[in-house]
Amino acid sequence: MTASIIDGKAIAGTVREQVRQAVVQMKEDYGYTPGLATVLVGEDPASSTYVRSKRKTCEELGIRSIGHELPATATQTQVEQLVASLNADPNVNGILVQLPLPKHLNEEAVLNSISLEKDVDGFHPVNIGRLAMKGRDPLFIPCTPYGCIVLLEESGIPIRGAEAVVVGRSNIVGLPVAMLLQKRDATVTICHSRTRDLAEHIRRADIVIAAIGRTEMITGDMLKPGAAVIDVGINQKPDPTAKRGYRLVGDVDFESAKEVAGAITPVPGGVGPMTITMLMKNTLRAAEIELAKRDR
Ligand code: NAP
Repeated sequence: MTASIIDGKAIAGTVREQVRQAVVQMKEDYGYTPGLATVLVGEDPASSTYVRSKRKTCEELGIRSIGHELPATATQTQVEQLVASLNADPNVNGILVQLPLPKHLNEEAVLNSISLEKDVDGFHPVNIGRLAMKGRDPLFIPCTPYGCIVLLEESGIPIRGAEAVVVGRSNIVGLPVAMLLQKRDATVTICHSRTRDLAEHIRRADIVIAAIGRTEMITGDMLKPGAAVIDVGINQKPDPTAKRGYRLVGDVDFESAKEVAGAITPVPGGVGPMTITMLMKNTLRAAEIELAKRDR
């Protein structure tokens, strides 16, 4: 069996086009343009690249991008004051503080200071709490987990009643994706570094979500035939033939897994393109929340 490839680029393209059209409509109907503020503290090259690509995607979709850069020496008060001013600005709908912050800053306090209605990353504890609770919905769903669910849904993979195994329990991926699957009536097992027999759990799964950060750790022999595999991992694998000396691979060994799985995301081109896309969708939603407040 050879798995069908879940094309994250194509699915992200469709969602982006929907967001772009909704932004045009919002401008026409209300004369209002959604705005996303990005806060970059320091000069970490990976963080700078992520922020640049978020700003570029905003421009492509007609969303206003408001960039703020603080030096690596910025104090807790300076960062929190900036967030407070963005909270108060009615033309800023979403606030994205690029993580990780420099070590001397209290990341949790900064994230908690973002207004709930502008928490487009979905990391505010109230948003995560609502995600966990029955009968409650968060204002925003964290972007990467949201992207995983859209990939499954757009690929027609049934979630209700499915046996789902999530490998990884981080606040930004594993935990929220497990809660989202559970909300959609999957039976969810969360595995982590202390799980005794990882392969035994994975072998039961109709849906596997890999969010580990370990190069090609899940192999085809660990999968149930026909399983849907969403590979969140982004790892650098040494490759002397590549220009940079490495290539990007996932947490799943794609070559062996695609012979057993029913559907699988590639790395790159799977979950990656979905993350920024869902951030744009959350920013649009934040603008809708702002407009609804004005109507009241
Ligand atoms: P993280 O915070 O390091 O969490 C990794 C999780 O994997 C932890 O829960 C850890 O267990 C578990 N784990 C580690 N080794 C394990 C093992 N041998 N067996 C089973 N579980 C193990 O990482 P993250 O932020 O969630 O990111 C995970 C991966 O996704 C990374 O490769 C990251 O680059 C990628 N990522 C991609 C996107 C995207 O847009 N595509 C976005 C975010 C992250 P413990 O809790 O016990 O330590």
